Formats: sequence, structure tokens, C-alpha cells
Amino acid sequence: MTIPKRPRVLIIGGGFGGLFCARRLARADVEITLLDRAASHLFQPLLYQCATGKLSIGHISRPLREEFSGRANVRALLGEAIELDPDRRTVTALRPDETTFTIDYDVVVLAVGMQQSYLGNERFAEWAPGMKTLDDALEIRQRVLIAFEIAETLPPGPERASWLTFAVAGGGPTGVELAGQIREMATRTLANEFHHIDPGEARVLLFDGGQRVLKSFAPELSEKATASLRELGVEMHLGVHVTDVRRDGATVTPKNGDPSVEFSTRTVLWTAGVEAVPFARHVADVLGAATDRSGRIEVEPDLSVAGHPEVFVIGDLAGRDNLPGVAENAMQGGLHAARCIRRDLAGRPRRRYRYHDLGSAAYISHRNALLQLGPLRVAGGLGWLAWGLIHIAFLTGVKNRVSTISTWLAYIARPGRYHRAFMLGAADRPEQRYTYSNWDPDEPVHDVRAPLRTAANATASPKEEGAHVQKP
Ligand SMILES: Cc1cc2nc3c(=O)[nH]c(=O)nc-3n(C[C@H](O)[C@H](O)[C@H](O)COP(=O)(O)OP(=O)(O)OC[C@H]3O[C@@H](n4cnc5c(N)ncnc54)[C@H](O)[C@@H]3O)c2cc1C
Repeated sequence: MTIPKRPRVLIIGGGFGGLFCARRLARADVEITLLDRAASHLFQPLLYQCATGKLSIGHISRPLREEFSGRANVRALLGEAIELDPDRRTVTALRPDETTFTIDYDVVVLAVGMQQSYLGNERFAEWAPGMKTLDDALEIRQRVLIAFEIAETLPPGPERASWLTFAVAGGGPTGVELAGQIREMATRTLANEFHHIDPGEARVLLFDGGQRVLKSFAPELSEKATASLRELGVEMHLGVHVTDVRRDGATVTPKNGDPSVEFSTRTVLWTAGVEAVPFARHVADVLGAATDRSGRIEVEPDLSVAGHPEVFVIGDLAGRDNLPGVAENAMQGGLHAARCIRRDLAGRPRRRYRYHDLGSAAYISHRNALLQLGPLRVAGGLGWLAWGLIHIAFLTGVKNRVSTISTWLAYIARPGRYHRAFMLGAADRPEQRYTYSNWDPDEPVHDVRAPLRTAANATASPKEEGAHVQKP
């Protein structure tokens, strides 16, 4: 493709793909605009640790502006791309105040990833947050910790039990990691912090449609993970679909035709599917590009869109040869698009993209992780060490690496989670489920008091007083 001498390259999305593309291109004679609707690159593989209070949002994110502060030819912009005009070669983006601005490009790299999909049940989103963004992680942290807090003030019984029941939909790495971490938090971190409830009694239910969890791993590793999760106390329900989610429960329907089962729970977390973001669907439409069922855009061997050599699609959104939705594919895709642009500049032909599988790892529980690298399969402590090293190596920013290592070391020494702060909502934010501001003083009070421990009842048996014995 012939492109101008100093082309304007617009990279949309500062995730793994966009970040690696911008880094590699920054040394070329190009003007780069990196547009993202978030101000920071997010290290998604550790989102669940942020959601469960082990790490802060600062540990797993790095401002894109800081990342490229030393690069005069890279400007990072905050805005959500909403429209692409292939004839004028412009992209229109929304500022956070909902005004718009336009960016011209000679080459555009689409690296917008995928968003959570509720598989046609969008109404579930109100009660079951997904796990894709920092907002999601903070919402999950809020919901999980508030559930324990509310349970502490309720007497024993079905209502308290439903606050102490956590359901996770999706048995891929994210669902497994989240389910394991909630149990680990309940049994390790919170074990001695409550007076009426025993957090260790929290039920964590993991639902998946397949016959085993972690299907992307070899069967023997997924068996080991299953055994470890059971030991940790995660209840696994396989071969089922979550067919309803509401304020106070979830319905689960077995695929074999058995009757549906109702679970009473106040916390449902959704990790079960992905789909293209609306902007990616719009781009596919205006470019006349084919997409798969989830909206991934079909690409040519060089990762450009057919008939549009100036448009690259990389990372999770690129649909070709069953490329996996993993960070490694996004990083390699970003480097590849950068290489193609440099070859265009040098007047050399582009090469085809070849994905190299560098293995995968999943955290199961404390000192226990899986690692799969070609024929090498490792589980347990060795897997955990390898998992830790890989994640530290890819975490963005030296400061983030150092502070994450020290936080992990502290957790190994003591099971405290030091990033448990959460915010409550406000009446003017209806999407915030937990708030004091919606209370209507005229409403009758639903009295579900838990007897508090006083001098008078402190000697009563836990059963009589409705409190739970503290574990030693
Ligand atoms: C919870 C979780 C755990 C994971 N764990 C692992 C793991 O252990 N190992 C592994 O290999 N992979 C893991 N993955 C997958 C991995 O994170 C993804 O494959 C990778 O992030 C994809 O990179 P990407 O660049 O395609 O998209 P992303 O990294 O998702 O980046 C997309 C970027 O585009 C931005 N964006 C979206 N729409 C717009 C728009 N309209 N305008 C502007 N910006 C926009 C987003 O803000 C985001 O920054 C995990 C994913 C999740 C969600």
C-alpha cells in the first residue's frame, strides 16, 4: 500500500494490541494518535485480584499519557470512537462530556477488544456485572464486600444465607479465578473479622455449560483445577445454563433436560461470553466487512480488512483462523500491524500474520496455579511461581511491577487484602445498587434484626443468639 511520507496512524484502543502497536511504531517516522475511552491501559488478567481486594486499580493500570510521555510523535487522547468515515478517512469520537471531535487518519488500527456478552439476556446485566473494565472490578468488589456486611446484620435464616451465596456464571479462567478468590477471601482474609457470621460458610457456586471448567486447558489440568476448587469449597455445576438472573436469585437449567433449579443469591457475577463493541459493529458495516456470530471482523492474512489495506484489526476483535482471545495474540497482532506499516513506508511487501502460542496460565488458589506450554503441563506450587513471573513480566510499568510484587509478598506472609475500599452509590445514579439515599421514611421497616452481642447474651450459645462462633 502507498501511504504519505509521514502518515497519520490512528490506533483505537490502548489495550494489549493498541499499546504494543504504538510502542513498536513510536520509533518510526509516523504521527500516532492513540485513542481510548479509558485514560489508562488495563492489565485485564489481574482484574479479579482487584475485584477481590488483593490489588488496587493503580496496580493493574497505567495512564497512556504517562506511558508515551517521552514520545513526541505519540499523542494519547481520551474519547470513545463512535463513527468511522472510510471515504474521508476520519473517526469521530465522544468526549466524556458527550461533545464530539474528529481525527483524520491515513492508517487506522482497530484494537477495541470485545465487551461482555449476556448471550441475548441483556437484562441480566442489571444484577450480574461482567468483568472487563476497572468499573466492573470495583462494582464486583463493592457487591461482594457489601454482601458480607449485610449478612453480618441479619439473623440466621434464608435471607442471610442468600447474601452469603455468590454465583459465578462461566467456568473459563476468569470465572474460575473469581470463584476461587471469593472463597479464599472468605476463608483466609475475612475469617476472623466478623462477629455474627462465619464468612467461611459463604457458598460460591460456579456454573458452566460444558462438562469441565477451563476448557482451553488440557483435560488433566482442568481436572486438577476442579479438585483444587472443590477442596477450596467452590460448588461446581456443569452442563447447565443460567437462564434467569434477578435481584434475589438465579435460575439454572441443565442442558440434559432435567428441571430447572432456583438458587437464592444476592450476588451473581457474569463471565460467560463476549461480543463486539458497538463501534466495531459499525466499522464492519461501513467497510462491508464480514463478521462472525460474536461480531469479530474477518481479516486478511496481514490483519487488514479486505479491500481496505489502510484498516487493520488486531487482538480479540480480529476474526481469522480461530485466533484465541488472549493477551499474547493481541500483543503479537499489535507488533505485526506496526511491522506492516513500517514495511509500507519502506515500499516492501507486507507479511502474513502468524500467531505463536506461548502458553497459558491460570490462578486457582493460594500457591496453586496451572501452566500449559506446548507439551509442558504444570499445576500446583511450580505453576503458581511460573504464573507469578509471567504476570509480573507483562504488567505495564516498572512501578506497578514493584508494588504488585510487594503486595503479593505481604499476602503470602499474612492473608490481608489491603485494597478493599468500595464506594456506595447515590440516589441520582440509578445504576448504583447500594445506597443509603433511596430510603423512603414512609415505607414500613422490614425488621430483620440480628441480635448483637451484648454482655447479657454474650454467653448464650451461637444458635440461641443467632450469631456464629468465631473460628480460632
Ligand atoms: C478478566 C479477564 C482476564 C483475562 N485473563 C487473561 C490471561 O490470564 N491471559 C491472557 O492471555 N489473556 C487474558 N485475558 C484476555 C486478554 O486480556 C485479552 O485477550 C486482551 O486484553 C485483548 O487485547 P485487545 O487489545 O484486543 O483488547 P483490550 O485489551 O480489551 O483493549 C481494548 C481497548 O479498547 C478500548 N475501547 C473499546 N471500545 C472503544 C471505543 N469505541 N473507542 C475508544 N476506545 C475503545 C478499551 O477501553 C480498551 O482499552 C483476560 C481478559 C479478561 C477480561
